[in-house]
Amino acid sequence: MIITINNEASSEARAELMELLCRITGSKLPITTTIMQKREVVALDSGMIDAQAERALREQSAVEGLHNPKTAYQLASKAFQAERTSIVIGNVHGGNPVTIGGEHANPVIMAGPCAVEDRKQLMETALAVKNAGAQVLRGGAFKPRTSPYQFQGLGIEGLHLLAEARELTGLPVITEVMEPEMVEAVAQHADILQIGTRNAQNFPLLLKAARNSKRLPVLLKRGLAMTIDEWLLAAEYILAAGNPNVILCERGIRSYDPQTRNVLDLTVVPLLHQLTHLPVVIDPSHSTGRRELVPTMSRAGIASEADGLIIESHPDPDKALCDGRQSVRPETLERIVLEAQMITNMIRGEVSVA
Ligand code: PEP
Ligand code: MN
Repeated sequence: MIITINNEASSEARAELMELLCRITGSKLPITTTIMQKREVVALDSGMIDAQAERALREQSAVEGLHNPKTAYQLASKAFQAERTSIVIGNVHGGNPVTIGGEHANPVIMAGPCAVEDRKQLMETALAVKNAGAQVLRGGAFKPRTSPYQFQGLGIEGLHLLAEARELTGLPVITEVMEPEMVEAVAQHADILQIGTRNAQNFPLLLKAARNSKRLPVLLKRGLAMTIDEWLLAAEYILAAGNPNVILCERGIRSYDPQTRNVLDLTVVPLLHQLTHLPVVIDPSHSTGRRELVPTMSRAGIASEADGLIIESHPDPDKALCDGRQSVRPETLERIVLEAQMITNMIRGEVSVA
């Protein structure tokens, strides 16, 4: 059950409502509200609200309305919010802000190396990403590697280099945070907090990322074998913790065929647009694991109406310390950006296909 709070409510009426909500939920902590589309809302398990509690809520002058989306995820649901969420990225640390999601926004291309390796590599890549026309720089400072013997990232030094690359290019940066204790350190430098596939159901991390002090958006990758409902419920953790700015990222799911690293489930794009208002981006790099497949799957992602792409790019992919096999060269990235714009224009009917 979602309760919309009346913006005009007096502070006494609001306090009375909060007290009632604490009684209904049995919570001793203050109730967390979320601002979505300028409305302040709070979601509760509808199982907690019997007829008497519902009546008591309806009598509160601070309650504007009650909504029951009837799905396990509530704030994320399209049944609750029909308009697509648009999120401004990069308005905190001085980069050039970009909007992702919403009804008519251009797709946002995020690109950069899998891992920040050193200053030269990152600055060179950042300039190339900018010249290619992408709007956000990606780069991992903390890397979740399958083997403990593989390069684990530069850590804090990588964050400083990302901030320097933003200063150089104006591109907002996205980087992964792997543990709750590091959320604040990462938020000091990042414009988007990335939660990786291996951590997609790390609930303490989701909550901490949601509550980051810079109010940064969170990009939530789909877990390796996550159902769509599980993914939306992970997003719901972030929304219910007070952060309305969640971007969903499909990065391929685990299957049985080793030919590709994962299976890119493009069906999720139109499906998620029906189920949720949150922006959806496609990662053609981790989903395929092969750089020669990235341009085609990028086109397919945009054609399926994704709100953006996140692509690994490296000036010398064969020498990359991480994921070089799936990293495209900057020239390829430039073509992907151009094609994304052409496909978007075509979908909008701005160019004829005849
Ligand atoms: C990455 O973006 O480099 C990454 C580790 O992604 P994923 O969590 O999707 O594997
Ligand atoms: Mn990678």
